[in-house]
Amino acid sequence: MPNSLLTCIEFSNVGDFYSALEREVNIASDISIVAVLVMSMHRSDRLNAMLTPDYAQATRAAFLERIRPVLRDKDSFVFATENECWFLLPQLSSDALAILAVHRVLSALSTPLKIGSHTIFFNPCIGIACAPVHARSATALLRAADTAQKNAQLGNLRFLLAHGAEDASAGPEDLPRALEDVLDANRLEMRYQPKVELRSNSVVSVEALVRWPSDHPQTVATPLLIEIAERCDMIELLTMRVFNKVLQEMVGWRQSGLTILVWINLSAKLLSLEHLPTILSRVLSIWNIPTSSIGLEITESAFINDIEHTTNVLFELKALGFHLSIDDFGTGYSSLAYLRRFPIDELKIDRMFIHGMTESLQDRQIVQSIIGLAHNFGLQVVAEGVEQAATLTELDILGCDQIQGYLFARPMPGDDLIGWCNAFNRTAKLK
Ligand code: C2E
Ligand code: MG
Ligand code: MG
Repeated sequence: MPNSLLTCIEFSNVGDFYSALEREVNIASDISIVAVLVMSMHRSDRLNAMLTPDYAQATRAAFLERIRPVLRDKDSFVFATENECWFLLPQLSSDALAILAVHRVLSALSTPLKIGSHTIFFNPCIGIACAPVHARSATALLRAADTAQKNAQLGNLRFLLAHGAEDASAGPEDLPRALEDVLDANRLEMRYQPKVELRSNSVVSVEALVRWPSDHPQTVATPLLIEIAERCDMIELLTMRVFNKVLQEMVGWRQSGLTILVWINLSAKLLSLEHLPTILSRVLSIWNIPTSSIGLEITESAFINDIEHTTNVLFELKALGFHLSIDDFGTGYSSLAYLRRFPIDELKIDRMFIHGMTESLQDRQIVQSIIGLAHNFGLQVVAEGVEQAATLTELDILGCDQIQGYLFARPMPGDDLIGWCNAFNRTAKLK
């Protein structure tokens, strides 16, 4: 029998999970995909768990307390073995959402559990497979997720997406190599997604988002691309490639009459790079673009790790003229008190809360309090992932400053941006 407490379902046996998976796979389509995650854990406390049943129960309860809040009501999971958990995520609009869910699960398990005097590290590793992309039956889907999980382990990755079923190109274990080639040949592509200010009804800036080359035989989702670059020490080179590409396109836009602030995502890992502020401002001066035309989006997790060092780097970047934003705000559990200490201009509310806010009172309250908090500190608030008009209306009522999302525009090639901005400014009727 499934065990559901108004949240995601936990199946008590693999058979029930499998039946549910079969049902979902049968109705999956290109626009409503189903993802399976196979998560193995290398717990640091196996011996204790085996010796004392009460202890095992307590850790399981604590584990569930971490996992439940990061899954949706329609998601489900089962403990296939003591150290392996399978998740079923139905009705996703893209595999990027499965990867986001993986990030949430990994983040929920990233800090150790404390049970009595024991500290438990889970060391999870996840394989992801989606139907109908990677397989069209429950068995094949589970096998694909299992293989991806094993390949992730081999490659020392925290997660890995299954490889396209019919694709005869390099296997997933070759992804770091493929990324190296792509970086060497400078083949990464950029897309740009506008941020729209509600008050003035206008496009105020764009966010640059990196993409795997569209003409490459493999397909690699952006979160995975970033994960590999970070794991395999290629994130610095990737960031330089991104900056150069963006700045080059900005020069072109300027020549065509569009001067616009561009936000670039900066990996948390890069904050520990010595001389980062100097390196970035040097790249900008090569292209003759002022630092005031660039914003840096840094995920909230960067702010938790080494606060002292992060604060110093941020002050340096700010002094050079960069705009600063905290991305995915609300997911990192950072202490709100720290906000006052950082020289930031903007908070971006994570799209997990934005998606949920029209249906979940709790999500709406979280969004409302983040907006109130940001305004108290004099910060701009941006809502990311706005897909529906009803969400836009809610955000407007709550006083959100800017929005970004598929409702207005998907990330687009740089060549399309000027045309899009002109059309938007001519015809946009947001309210
Ligand atoms: P992010 O910075 O939070 O970017 C927002 C993500 O949400 C993007 O995914 C974007 O395409 C997607 N998105 C935008 N609007 C909507 C919407 O209405 N609905 C939904 N479902 N999704 C929406 P993308 O491009 O796959 O990027 C994922 C993450 O990868 C980014 O999250 C960012 O953390 C990272 N990233 C992207 N480009 C770069 C880069 O150049 N450098 C670094 N270090 N990280 C990057
Ligand atoms: Mg961002
Ligand atoms: Mg974000």
